[in-house]
Amino acid sequence: MRRFLLPTALLIAIWLPLPVLAAPCMLVTLTGTMSGPALINGVAGAGTLVRYGDDSAGCGTTKLQFDAGRGTVLRLSQLNIDPGRLDAVFFTHMHSDHTEGFVDLLLARWNWSSSGAKVDVVCSSDVSSPLGFTMSCGKFVTHIGDAFVQSGEIAQRVSEDKRRLAGGPAELAHLITFEPRDEPQVVWTKGDVKVSAIRSTHVAGHASFRVDTPAGSVVIGGDASNDSPAPPRPTSTSAQVERLAQGAEVIVHSTMHPVMGPEHDSGMPPPVYYRQSLTSDLGAMAKRTGAKYLMLTHLAPQVRATHHGPYKVPGGALTEADYRAAAEAGGFTGTTIVGSDLATLRLPAQ
Ligand SMILES: [Zn+2]
Repeated sequence: MRRFLLPTALLIAIWLPLPVLAAPCMLVTLTGTMSGPALINGVAGAGTLVRYGDDSAGCGTTKLQFDAGRGTVLRLSQLNIDPGRLDAVFFTHMHSDHTEGFVDLLLARWNWSSSGAKVDVVCSSDVSSPLGFTMSCGKFVTHIGDAFVQSGEIAQRVSEDKRRLAGGPAELAHLITFEPRDEPQVVWTKGDVKVSAIRSTHVAGHASFRVDTPAGSVVIGGDASNDSPAPPRPTSTSAQVERLAQGAEVIVHSTMHPVMGPEHDSGMPPPVYYRQSLTSDLGAMAKRTGAKYLMLTHLAPQVRATHHGPYKVPGGALTEADYRAAAEAGGFTGTTIVGSDLATLRLPAQ
């Protein structure tokens, strides 16, 4: 009888365990894709989670949350992420569709992780508008638990569990503010991870962020638009965001589809329309900066919605293809991801 023997080298290759490769990787997840305060079909408020680590740790040693709109903690729970484990939360600006989920997030951390580390909260220092108001992330964070202190709940829960901080959730926030500038500045670091910020325009105090890691770089534009508030202007996108995004693989950006423009009959007030970046202009910007991926989020209007809040979508609901076509009309030839909640991009791609 003939025997079929495998070559010795092949046998060794089969029996030896594969070496564990600790290659760096990054995950970019949209925790919410709603634009503005509108309520549409369970879509969560604006936010992006950036995780970085290596393969053996699920790319998740460092966890950074950018903006925290309505429902952020619920989306994080779907990813099995404990709010107590976030390293830092960054705010692009003080609009409730980007901030209201922070209350939930910090209350959850206070309830279950009061004795743990504080969470870094990184945002613009106070900025006063010539229109007579001041945007203050500092006050927002300092007063985040006030309603629950005033209701008596904080004292009641502290009486049940003395590990909870007596001052409420605000005591768990470590506020880090920066003066927004027209050039990138480093605002946060941890190990291999560096986060930079740049001033951008939408409302006073708006900033955009960039995360650099050995696995790649992602820019979080927020609601940025051009410093010129309305046409005539060369583009609706921000020159500062374009500077920040040079060479980054991924751009995550809020967008307005051109169909909502004043030349159609959406009813959207022109200033609301003009203070976002149009999808076609974002496609052009992503082409110029060399991005491989454009993740569209904060969609106005949402895909398959006939209205955006009180404003109708001229010509009927849009599809993902309509958004991709708009980005491509701007010249973008990379991959356009039309944002839905929990859409995730991995770098490097697998
Ligand atoms: Zn917004």
